[in-house]
Amino acid sequence: MSDVLIVGAGPTGLWLALELRAAGLNVTVIERNTTRDIRSRAAAMAAGCLEAFATRGIAQRFIDAGVPIRSVHFGSSPTRLQMSRESLGTKHPHSLMIPQAVTEQLLIDVCEQKGVKFLFGHTVVGLVQNSDGVTLNVEIRDGSKSDFTAPWLVGCDGTKSTIRKLANIEFPGTEGTIWGWLADVLVTDPPPHPISINNKSGSFLIQPLGYKDYYRTTGVNLSTMGVPPSAPPTIEDAKSFAIETSGKDYGMHSPLWTSRFSNTTRLATNFRSGRIFVVGDAAHQFFPAGGQGITTGLQDAANLAWKLVAVIQGRITGVHAEELLDSYNTERRLALQAVIKSTLAQTALYTPDNPQRAALADIVYELIAHPNINKLLVRRITGFGDPFPQEGDEQDSLIGSRVTHLEVQGRFDPLHAAMSVDTFLLVVMDDKLEGILREVTNPWASNIKYFGPSDDIKSFGQQWDGVKAALIRPDARITWVWRATSSHEQLNPSITKVLKKQCKQI
Ligand SMILES: Cc1cc2nc3c(=O)[nH]c(=O)nc-3n(C[C@H](O)[C@H](O)[C@H](O)COP(=O)(O)OP(=O)(O)OC[C@H]3O[C@@H](n4cnc5c(N)ncnc54)[C@H](O)[C@@H]3O)c2cc1C
Repeated sequence: MSDVLIVGAGPTGLWLALELRAAGLNVTVIERNTTRDIRSRAAAMAAGCLEAFATRGIAQRFIDAGVPIRSVHFGSSPTRLQMSRESLGTKHPHSLMIPQAVTEQLLIDVCEQKGVKFLFGHTVVGLVQNSDGVTLNVEIRDGSKSDFTAPWLVGCDGTKSTIRKLANIEFPGTEGTIWGWLADVLVTDPPPHPISINNKSGSFLIQPLGYKDYYRTTGVNLSTMGVPPSAPPTIEDAKSFAIETSGKDYGMHSPLWTSRFSNTTRLATNFRSGRIFVVGDAAHQFFPAGGQGITTGLQDAANLAWKLVAVIQGRITGVHAEELLDSYNTERRLALQAVIKSTLAQTALYTPDNPQRAALADIVYELIAHPNINKLLVRRITGFGDPFPQEGDEQDSLIGSRVTHLEVQGRFDPLHAAMSVDTFLLVVMDDKLEGILREVTNPWASNIKYFGPSDDIKSFGQQWDGVKAALIRPDARITWVWRATSSHEQLNPSITKVLKKQCKQI
């Protein structure tokens, strides 16, 4: 029997499967499709995905298959958000143009190598949950049906999630009010760099698709965006809108496909129902502004994976197990509220259909040119700047953030290599503290990797000023920080108590 059943082999389900399998769990992924369609919704993979892949040693195969992009628009801003070593503090400070189908195939390849079991051509149609586990009723391609049982079930089955519906998890939000279009096309007159335009006609974007010589073009036409479309756009529609907004059509021809999308926005009321979890698009839906969908799903998966592993391996039991699993919902719902806010704000910028909105868009675009605002927004949109639940009134600003701007011997790789789904990292930058912290954390030592001052740890960026030690979770989130400007004697029992409390999650 599988330890965990995952429904859906999209990016979220595949990443979750890999994480769980890395801990030695038996994982089965149930997917209704048998092949991947190159006519992909997602074209941009955010830098946050590459960082997640880097922590598990598989980033390069995606980079080899895509086209790096070093800037991203915010609500079609003419001034783009700049990704750099300084702003993101990661090994790969860029996003990637790569079709979702390619991403999925690369992940499937790794999953298969690692021993994840796949049931393609299987569609979940029924579900029963009891106190020991979950049984799925599955329709197979030949029309027959079969039951599959496991202690835990994760629905990664997209916005129309069958699992979410069968688990009676509500999905409130707002229906689409505006529609955009996309067309993946060949061009005879390619732009020298990605272009985002926003003017009185609407917004238009063009950038390489990362598949053969195709370009991804998207548009929101202010004069028609409020009319529910009856058909995908034609190549002529796409060309004439390109000319209307940017003065040229780039020689667009031979579309791979064209499609429409809306700003329907929804958030599940709970990401957990007993032994069932919903993750990725199954838990949230928003306007595809800024390419945040995949990185958001991956972070949901990473957040849940290490918690499920700790519970299934029996390291955490009883009420503490329940609390840890519930924290997936608390932490990721908060993060998703921020992602949704970002996409709503971007939608408003895309659609300056009255003088007030147009004025607001002008001011936001002006602010984006300010380096600190540019840095703040680029971290958020690429999957590094999610908010995290506050404990108490004064929480260190690093708590809950993904670890970045930290190198060992001048490289990111040693930290990445040490990270895994069942390992916490304790990073100590002060030799007087090392012994004390090793002693405090000794009961959990088998699941902690230590980096001490002799490992030559260096941080850069103001957020690390004064930090002497930090505890980092398997999903690369910082969960405890000791920041001191004077002596280590200030590391008093109340501080070590907080560290011990965090260690209880190990
Ligand atoms: C037009 C558009 C453009 C986008 N562009 C980007 C972009 O550039 N960058 C980005 O990051 N995001 C983008 N997104 C969002 C991105 O596509 C999604 O966030 C992402 O696909 C979510 O991944 P997922 O694995 O959670 O769900 P999905 O990719 O939807 O995967 C769900 C899987 O579950 C399977 N499934 C569903 N029901 C069942 C069932 N009953 N039984 C078995 N299997 C089932 C499906 O076949 C599917 O394979 C875009 C979205 C749209 C609509």
